[in-house]
Amino acid sequence: MSQPYPFIDPTLFTQHAGGELYVDLSAIVQNYHSLQKKVAPAQCGAVVKANAYGLGMVPVAKALAKAGCKEFFVAHLDEGIALRNILGKEYLIYVLHGVPYGTESIFLKHYLIPILNDIHQLQRWSSLCKDHQTSYAAGVQFDTGMSRFGIGQDELSNLQQVDWSIFHPILVMSHLACADTPNHIANQHQLEQFHILKQLIPNCRSSLAASSGIFLGNDWHFDIVRPGVALYGGNPTPSQPNPMKNVISLQGKIIQTRHISKGAFIGYGASFTATKDMRLALISIGYADGFFRAFSNKISATSPKFPGTPLALLGRVSMDSLCLDITNLPEVAIQVGDKIEIIGDHCSIDTLAQEADTIGYEILTSLGNRYHRIYT
Ligand SMILES: *Cc1c(COP(=O)(O)O)cnc(C)c1O
Repeated sequence: MSQPYPFIDPTLFTQHAGGELYVDLSAIVQNYHSLQKKVAPAQCGAVVKANAYGLGMVPVAKALAKAGCKEFFVAHLDEGIALRNILGKEYLIYVLHGVPYGTESIFLKHYLIPILNDIHQLQRWSSLCKDHQTSYAAGVQFDTGMSRFGIGQDELSNLQQVDWSIFHPILVMSHLACADTPNHIANQHQLEQFHILKQLIPNCRSSLAASSGIFLGNDWHFDIVRPGVALYGGNPTPSQPNPMKNVISLQGKIIQTRHISKGAFIGYGASFTATKDMRLALISIGYADGFFRAFSNKISATSPKFPGTPLALLGRVSMDSLCLDITNLPEVAIQVGDKIEIIGDHCSIDTLAQEADTIGYEILTSLGNRYHRIYT
């Protein structure tokens, strides 16, 4: 039998897991409140696609709903169904990828709101409304320059072919390509395009900004904003200090310690050679857990018992393990079974992202399924 969302049984990896991922739900809620305050009187929704960026859609969405969030965005229909199972009908759930052929009745059954991204989806939804003489809730997306989702310039002339007699969209939206670069010329251009295109769907709420767009200013807020990564502690303003609260702490367990002599090498490819006698700790987290091989020899971890002492990651990250230099910690105080913080206040997802030449989003959504997720 096929598995429903969430893909992974969260009870599978418990106290025996090699890593514990602490997710601070109160920090997510604080981030939500600070964004909501920033955009008021606009509404703040929440993007919980991709299992809430790897942190767990069910606990995250429940916490946000309790904190007053009324509108949620997911990417896939299955994510929407899973979310509807835990949220009452009064919460709006938008499915960003739109309505695939033949799934219309599933949307209606679960009170899901498709974002209609092309003319065919619009035509199908409007005829459904006509057939049932009911304007079922849906949003319409325009492409304002990103050439990704939404109705583009090439389809605008076809809008007249849509039967608008019954169907009236409840949201018109678009998405910014360069919002994390405030001075990028594309931002202003997309804003102007959005002002023009949204008039094609009059008397309708509108939405343009995701996390970074919120920080471009009030002109970008419209009626509802759609933050994702900022809720989860990622920096929406990469050129400036992070205004959001850190949400996660990833703690790896020590599975072995050893002493090595000067001249010994460490790990695959012998990419590190000891310059002195050292003590090492093997941690039960590797690239199969989404902890990239690109971090090899680049970052440091920290022991909660000795937060001031950086523990350098030495050699390559293996599939299931990584190696830390614990030479500078008192020998009796660090033993097998102890936990070491790998991601957290000392080393943020954005810092890690820089080391791997990527963005915090990819660090979050790669967080492995073998971690025991603990919600605080
Ligand atoms: C993923 C997504 C968001 C959220 O983006 P963040 O940068 O994480 O805030 C908002 N809108 C759309 C259309 C998206 O695909």
